[in-house]
Amino acid sequence: MKITSVAMNLSAVSKQQYPTQNWPEIALAGRSNVGKSSLINTLIQRKNLARTSQTPGKTQTLNFYEINQAFNLVDVPGYGYAKVSQKRRAAFGQMIEEYLTTRQPLQGVLILVDGRHPPTADDVSMYQFVHYYHLPTLVVATKMDKVKKNRWQQTQQVIEQTLTLSPVDQFQFFSAVTKLGRAEVWQWIEQQIHL
Ligand code: GDP
Repeated sequence: MKITSVAMNLSAVSKQQYPTQNWPEIALAGRSNVGKSSLINTLIQRKNLARTSQTPGKTQTLNFYEINQAFNLVDVPGYGYAKVSQKRRAAFGQMIEEYLTTRQPLQGVLILVDGRHPPTADDVSMYQFVHYYHLPTLVVATKMDKVKKNRWQQTQQVIEQTLTLSPVDQFQFFSAVTKLGRAEVWQWIEQQIHL
């Protein structure tokens, strides 16, 4: 993927605020601190367009990144941050759910899980949710530079088994440090949006 332009000019908390040009969209979801901002920055080759989190759980809006004036990457707020109140959690949940279940241009979802640990209950819920809605999914194991090579196979197995990953969905290792998986993630995105 050759990136010719990137613009981050839209944040939304509700349907009325989603972009109206209806370019194809790919959403990125994951627990706070999983490495979502780092992955977005790696994909678009910008150091800091997506803010890497100093305060986990702070991003509460859906952020739309316009790529090449052709499609959107949508940064979904990180879930599972313990210090967020029940009430705010419920509001996050609603916003994410509304987006994932009603957004017509949405062509696929990247679910990020931390490659160093087994998926959490939140990760499982997120995957089951998008799978239920038949959204094509790429599960991305992040921070793989921190995992020894001889553990990779087991890492993939544990993630696939814990999520009960469907054969229709795919799995990819990733590292924002080494850029491992960057090309493959783009390839998957291109397939979903038919570029
Ligand atoms: P977000 O909250 O999901 O957006 O996560 P960030 O991208 O802000 O990353 C959270 C922390 O993990 C930061 O300290 C990052 O530097 C670190 N991190 C993110 N991706 C990687 C990676 O691929 N390898 C390593 N070693 N650290 C990473």
